[in-house]
Amino acid sequence: MASERDACVFCGIADGRVRGSIVYGDDQVLAFMTTGPVNPGHLLVVPRAHVALMAELDEETGAHLFRVTMRLAQAVRSSGVRCEGINLFLADGEAAFQEVFHLHMHVFPRFQGDAFKLDADWSIQPPREELDEMAARIREAHQKLVDSEPPRRDMVP
Ligand SMILES: [Zn+2]
Repeated sequence: MASERDACVFCGIADGRVRGSIVYGDDQVLAFMTTGPVNPGHLLVVPRAHVALMAELDEETGAHLFRVTMRLAQAVRSSGVRCEGINLFLADGEAAFQEVFHLHMHVFPRFQGDAFKLDADWSIQPPREELDEMAARIREAHQKLVDSEPPRRDMVP
């Protein structure tokens, strides 16, 4: 019977069933070039375990994924590809533009005048009371998470 893993292109790359241009791999994460680069040098870092969302990823693997992301961002900078800056992008959920439902961190080089755009209005500045109220709501939700469900460290890829 076909599993989620069988149907997933990133698992396919991790398992060697699908061709990928591999940059880095270890027992927890894998990095490869995306087939739809924003700019040349655009790569993806994924956990080997098939998880769709951040909430499904154990924190240790998440921490390792970010460690590898930081190193590869530095590698992109020093690789000779045109790179004056780096963007990281992680789409967590369909509304956030996630298209492949295997968690992945985008790492892509940026340079002055490139075509990448983030279409958002960054000029809106809510009143301080609104920010304080939002901070309180999220602080409370975070505390509930920490109290009721300790960080997940039990998942093995
Ligand atoms: Zn997968």
